[in-house]
Amino acid sequence: MRDEVDKIVIITVGCKVNQAESEELALRLAEEGYRVTRDMEGAALCVVNTCAVTSEGEHKSRKAVSKAMRAGVPVIATGCSVRTDPGSLQAARGLQLVPNTDKDRLASIIAERGLKTGPGDMGNDVLRTRAVIKVQDGCDRGCAYCIVPRARGRSRSLPRDQIEAAVDRAVRRGAAELVLTGVNLGDYGRESGSSLSRLIHEMTARPDIGRVRLSSLEIDHVRGELLEEVACNPKVCKHLHLPLQSGDDRILEAMRRPYAAQEVMEVVSRLRQAVPEIAVTVDIMVGFPGEGEAEFSNTLRVIEELQPAKMHVFQYSPRPGTKAAGLAVQVDAAEKKERARRSRNLGLLLQQRFVKAQVGTRTEVAILEARYGEGAVGLTGNYVRVLLEPCKQELTAGLANVYIKGTRGCLALGDMDN
Ligand code: SF4
Repeated sequence: MRDEVDKIVIITVGCKVNQAESEELALRLAEEGYRVTRDMEGAALCVVNTCAVTSEGEHKSRKAVSKAMRAGVPVIATGCSVRTDPGSLQAARGLQLVPNTDKDRLASIIAERGLKTGPGDMGNDVLRTRAVIKVQDGCDRGCAYCIVPRARGRSRSLPRDQIEAAVDRAVRRGAAELVLTGVNLGDYGRESGSSLSRLIHEMTARPDIGRVRLSSLEIDHVRGELLEEVACNPKVCKHLHLPLQSGDDRILEAMRRPYAAQEVMEVVSRLRQAVPEIAVTVDIMVGFPGEGEAEFSNTLRVIEELQPAKMHVFQYSPRPGTKAAGLAVQVDAAEKKERARRSRNLGLLLQQRFVKAQVGTRTEVAILEARYGEGAVGLTGNYVRVLLEPCKQELTAGLANVYIKGTRGCLALGDMDN
């Protein structure tokens, strides 16, 4: 029976919003009787959710499409590249392009293909402790390097019933941690008089929801009710991810980011006063046009003062049609690479320091992977990956209490708290 049901492969490139959309599609397809798998062998269809935020994201997207095509698998390409650079995904036999505006209709577009369905499943190769839930899309800002507003349109909140349906589907599948995401997450509720803090408050009141994590949040949204909800709500993970991008005020201004480095320090220090154990993780972009050694050093200095628990480093890549793409003083590729290397080294050092500081604490982890008798991997509320020793009881999806007894590089070592 299983072999008669057609296999669908979903490949996701890029951000958490893409990830949430792909997860949601996979859950819907499974519930409609398709077999969703990662194995391309004999697949009847491959959906590639593309990314255009960097040239690397575009390259990975094209590569995924051509790999599936070479395997003789029909492909639906959707996502940001379809909007920003359809030419690079030139329509070929077996390739269908579906823009972001039609992404919500993907399940019915696939249904039109008449693939064979049965008792759908998603393959139970991974525990579904965490689910990424999209609550907002688009952005009204105009950061100079960013193509996302062009790819995803104006800022808008998803209808509450759609969010609840996605949460119900995830919880039915065993999700204990929900990661709320959006292109500009803090904008949620702006057009309806609601707010992200109210959404979190109401969502965490549900007894079947273990905890909620926020994906990336613009720095000027970290205040008021939202800060209070993060600080005081025990079901909100003590972790905030902030897209800092640079620590130099001249570069931040050229990027059209709505804050100066000092303001970020103040926001983070307020956050740490309110939640001492909080993990602040950041994005850094190196090599923005006009960034010299002095500006880059300012970024490293701010990072050392901020002490982030983890850092994602991106190399600036000019995006067609963005304001920064036309700027004169572009940084050469070798220099960008070198700055990325130096930033990552610093980030690693700071991450290891943060993980070390967790030793001797008891904390709640979301079990991500578990192999009977081989232990498991979990994630703490403050974003530390924990290696759990094999223990007598079988580990299943969900939240577990753990004692942190040591570290191994950026990993914490933990014991299940019996
Ligand atoms: S806030 Fe800026 S970087 Fe983020 S999606 Fe909007 S325009 Fe892009």
